[in-house]
Amino acid sequence: MKKACVIGYPISHSLSPTIHNYWLKKYNIEGEYTAVEVKPEELENFILKLDKNGYRGCNITLPHKERAFEIVSKNTKVVNTEDEYLPSQVARFMGAVNTIVVDENKNLVATNTDFLGFARNLIENAPDFDYQRSVALILGAGGAGKAIAFALASMQIAGLVITNRTREKAEEIRNIMINNFSFPADNIQVVDWEMREDVLPHCNIVVNTTSLGMVKKMEVGSGKLEEKNTSNFKPQTSNYINLSKLYPNSLVTDIVYNPLETNLLKQAKELGHITVDGLGMLLHQAAPGFEGWFGKKPVVDRELREAVLQKFKA
Ligand code: NAP
Repeated sequence: MKKACVIGYPISHSLSPTIHNYWLKKYNIEGEYTAVEVKPEELENFILKLDKNGYRGCNITLPHKERAFEIVSKNTKVVNTEDEYLPSQVARFMGAVNTIVVDENKNLVATNTDFLGFARNLIENAPDFDYQRSVALILGAGGAGKAIAFALASMQIAGLVITNRTREKAEEIRNIMINNFSFPADNIQVVDWEMREDVLPHCNIVVNTTSLGMVKKMEVGSGKLEEKNTSNFKPQTSNYINLSKLYPNSLVTDIVYNPLETNLLKQAKELGHITVDGLGMLLHQAAPGFEGWFGKKPVVDRELREAVLQKFKA
């Protein structure tokens, strides 16, 4: 039986088993996908023994994504592949991995699939948008912000503007985009967080990659849903950006998906912009791992979306 899992610490609220078990059932594959709690001190041993313990690979979620990247970088050959699903350079750019596949030569092939999840979600839900002639404002420069800068560059976006509360992190992404991904320096700007509304007239895409707008503090990169310090966490329900200066018929997307319609998306809809919610990113980022472990390219369909919505509403 083909086996894969998601590892994290803690792991009990992971949404990944719902996604992968939906696909296993749908495609009638004799396989198993489970959630395994792995403590930080057990991580290296777990990853290096994936094959020995019968796993074809795993998803990695908090707090292990960065450490897993170091372990995999140290212990495997660099695998160059044309396969869009395994672009190992993305993991290097991110310094974090969320998917490991044990290949036929028992190499650990690791990647970060958030960028792909984001790009596919946009293309699926706003297929006719002219990305190549667009300028996107990215709010936030954390792990997800990095993935999204790369995703938009891979969609051949004309220009990027990055803003983050901590400006240095936005500068770091700009440098990586220019030096590692040959993004034209003149077409990527960093602006102070306080200036975010002033640049709206120059943009026609807005992407929220910050955790602002969540109803609870959660980590969702690999499908894990975990409340953190809920008693101290103050929901950010007010609008943290006024979109009134945004060009008409722009595209506004939020990678936060709980609530599914964030205040940012509500505001954008009221102003007549095209909106795309963040749940599709979560579903699409899971697909590369499934194909790598179980040999079938899965489809993100409405039933899967419903199954996951039911799970996180529960
Ligand atoms: P992260 O690395 O911790 O980054 C958090 C980002 O939010 C940083 O840019 C941070 O700014 C900003 N931020 C937090 N509080 C803020 C505040 N009060 N005012 C202004 N900015 C604030 O987290 P991440 O991994 O990038 O994830 C970010 C969000 O994306 C989370 O909500 C996560 O659940 C969601 N996400 C969704 C998907 C999906 O599949 N849909 C995938 C990945 C992540 P500083 O740098 O200044 O702290």
